[in-house]
Amino acid sequence: MGYAEIAIAGGGIIGLATALELSTPGCRVTVFDKGEAMSEASRAAAGMLAGNDPDHPPELRELAHLSLKLYPGFLARVEQLSGAKIPIRTTLTVQGAKHLPPGARALADAEVLELAPRAALDGWHFFLLEEQSFDAWDLAEALPSAARAAGIELRENTPVLSVRRSGAGVAVETPGATFPAGAFLNCAGAWAPQLDALPVVPRKGHMLTATLPGLHQMRCVLRTGNVYIVPRGNNRYTVGPTVEDAGFDKQVLKEHIEELLQRAVELWPPLRDARIEETWTGLRPASGDGFPIMDKVETNRWVATGHYKNGILLGPGTGRVMSRWIQTGHPGIDISAFRAQRFGGSSLVSQRSPSLS
Ligand SMILES: Cc1cc2nc3c(=O)[nH]c(=O)nc-3n(C[C@H](O)[C@H](O)[C@H](O)COP(=O)(O)OP(=O)(O)OC[C@H]3O[C@@H](n4cnc5c(N)ncnc54)[C@H](O)[C@@H]3O)c2cc1C
Repeated sequence: MGYAEIAIAGGGIIGLATALELSTPGCRVTVFDKGEAMSEASRAAAGMLAGNDPDHPPELRELAHLSLKLYPGFLARVEQLSGAKIPIRTTLTVQGAKHLPPGARALADAEVLELAPRAALDGWHFFLLEEQSFDAWDLAEALPSAARAAGIELRENTPVLSVRRSGAGVAVETPGATFPAGAFLNCAGAWAPQLDALPVVPRKGHMLTATLPGLHQMRCVLRTGNVYIVPRGNNRYTVGPTVEDAGFDKQVLKEHIEELLQRAVELWPPLRDARIEETWTGLRPASGDGFPIMDKVETNRWVATGHYKNGILLGPGTGRVMSRWIQTGHPGIDISAFRAQRFGGSSLVSQRSPSLS
């Protein structure tokens, strides 16, 4: 059992993490990307591994915990293969909620202020999460070269136009050529419905990074349901997000950036003195219920998309599950919440929002 040649559409974290798991001396993996690998949602992310967020619905927990377990090895392997560094930037998150979740210990004001000096405390119950973050741009730089170093063929600027059955396998059509493979995996993020009929839409997020001069720095992520502030080192902070339905439009809108900064200043007033260095947007792949879609959709054809607000967290876990499933026929964990047929053919996309990122 097992395929000797696998083609993947999409060089984001989901496609490349799966490719790294699949690539062995007995299996050649080709990843196609319509543009540059790791240049879409996976580059836009804040980089929080919010797997212990109490707001996570139970359906996500097993995959999230698998991913968290795999993360140290995943990052070490990407670093070793690429020669680049992906430093962990924070290890704690101070989370503010309107109501303290069951089991959480409320932080005293002094404890919050020690971690986040001059934070605005009014109206929030704060509690502490052991949670890591890294700079998604660091991963975006390293992961494509790690994939190449692992022997994966990465074909950038090569969109997959369609996939059809061919003999015992598939034929992957691109503008210049047709590539045969034993199996195909659609990891095309928000664009995945162009290759398989799936209820996935883009949800746009604005982000900014600002530099803050002076003494009042923060070493943890500070987050509420409204906004997050993620330290990046060197007095730099990434602030996000917005969640918008704007189709595939990626334009950065000044008023959204200003509103985002305003929300962040309300939570952490020192940011009033910050200088905005960078602004960008990204398109989260959102399914009808906000959970991933991981499934075998036809003979020799799989899909892994819809990771919405948690694709960085869920990347290594998804890679492990999909590679096992494709090569052994067994995903290894209960993926019933992620099967495509749960939508029963409906392509309606709800407003449900399973977590904060
Ligand atoms: C603003 C923002 C903040 C976020 N913050 C976090 C966070 O802190 N933590 C977290 O866990 N998650 C976060 N996320 C979510 C996370 O970024 C996404 O869930 C994840 O990146 C999705 O990965 P992906 O590989 O499915 O999609 P993408 O990274 O979008 O990759 C899909 C790839 O497919 C390619 N493609 C599309 N069509 C084709 C085709 N026909 N042929 C070939 N290639 C194709 C695209 O060019 C793209 O490179 C955030 C997202 C955004 C937008």
